[in-house]
Amino acid sequence: MRILFLDQSGKSGGAELCLIDIAKPYKDSCLVGLFADGDFRKKLEQNQIPVQVLNTQTIKVSKESSLLQGLKSLSQLIPLILKVAQIARKYDLIYANTQKALVIGALASFFTRRPLVYHLHDILSPEHFSSTNRHLAVFLANHFASLVIANSQASKTAFIAAGGNGKITEVVYNGFDCNKYHIQHSEVKKLRQNLGTKSQFIIGHFSRLAPWKGQHILIEALANCPENVTAILVGDALFGEQDYVQQLHQQVETLKLSKRVKFLGFRDDIPQLMAACDLVTHTSTAAEPFGRVIVEAMLSQKPVIAAKAGGAMELIEHGVNGFLSTPENPQELAEIIINCCQNREKTLEIAHHACTTASQRFDVNNINQQIAKLLFTLKK
Ligand code: UDP
Repeated sequence: MRILFLDQSGKSGGAELCLIDIAKPYKDSCLVGLFADGDFRKKLEQNQIPVQVLNTQTIKVSKESSLLQGLKSLSQLIPLILKVAQIARKYDLIYANTQKALVIGALASFFTRRPLVYHLHDILSPEHFSSTNRHLAVFLANHFASLVIANSQASKTAFIAAGGNGKITEVVYNGFDCNKYHIQHSEVKKLRQNLGTKSQFIIGHFSRLAPWKGQHILIEALANCPENVTAILVGDALFGEQDYVQQLHQQVETLKLSKRVKFLGFRDDIPQLMAACDLVTHTSTAAEPFGRVIVEAMLSQKPVIAAKAGGAMELIEHGVNGFLSTPENPQELAEIIINCCQNREKTLEIAHHACTTASQRFDVNNINQQIAKLLFTLKK
């Protein structure tokens, strides 16, 4: 099947990393069209997935944009729509992986009569999207998409609550290559030495630096944990959240945690870094649509504490395959961390169980088969 994948981003967020795994089986007959250049393009190329940057200008519409701002960007969008429509004629299907891709993909689908799939990686709630954006996404999906793939039941429920058509919506979780998470002991030892935290209890936080990802909650919790508990913050401000980065550094200084918190920036060696941790935390303050980092921690056989909301609640059963903590409650998070430190054996048992079940539930080949089956029904 020839698929034209569309994604607005040049940066590697969760939706983009997920798309690499989805596009791989189609690499001989697909194209990923991007609306911006960046490291995501390079990652696609490294995976031998054909990619083309279709737009050289940044589209000046964001998740919070109003209708007026959206209309103003039309002059930028029209050439892109025409370009995509021209390319789409060579493909059987258009697969929009992000919201802006849905806008362009919907119109290209209309002009070329190619079926449109929308992969919904977001919870369409007021916390994440302006009302205009929510209505636009729902309108376009309902009128132009033949299939909406939601990355969790939470995303599907929010889509339907916003007016989305549940009859064309299927939940498919992200898939993972489980082998990537088996890291040699010698490599882990070396990495821990490099981190300079050989004998400490290391908590990992793996996420772009953004207020709703809640790194500040972990820092506050850390201040209530014993001295030997340290944290690595892995990730960068991908979408201009520089004020928040400043705020985090300030918070670390104010709480006198400079020796216990390390900012590692954006990294490509997530499995290795996770293997070097004793525990992984996820602290989003708004409901997480899916939460790739939670599954990655499970596959790394690391105990994981996730914020109890959205997709995270579909991944974790408290005390069975991980732990859930009330969002924005650093005190409770600190208590669970301390409990994990004190009950290492029991916690490791839970992490082991999580790894076994996650390897089956999120295996990339199974997930890709689910997607292939859904796409097959759409082929003309
Ligand atoms: N990630 C990464 N490098 C970093 C920080 C994060 O590659 O420095 C990856 C992380 O491993 C995960 C993805 O980015 O696969 C984030 O996905 P998630 O669903 O957790 O959040 P999103 O970014 O989609 O909101």
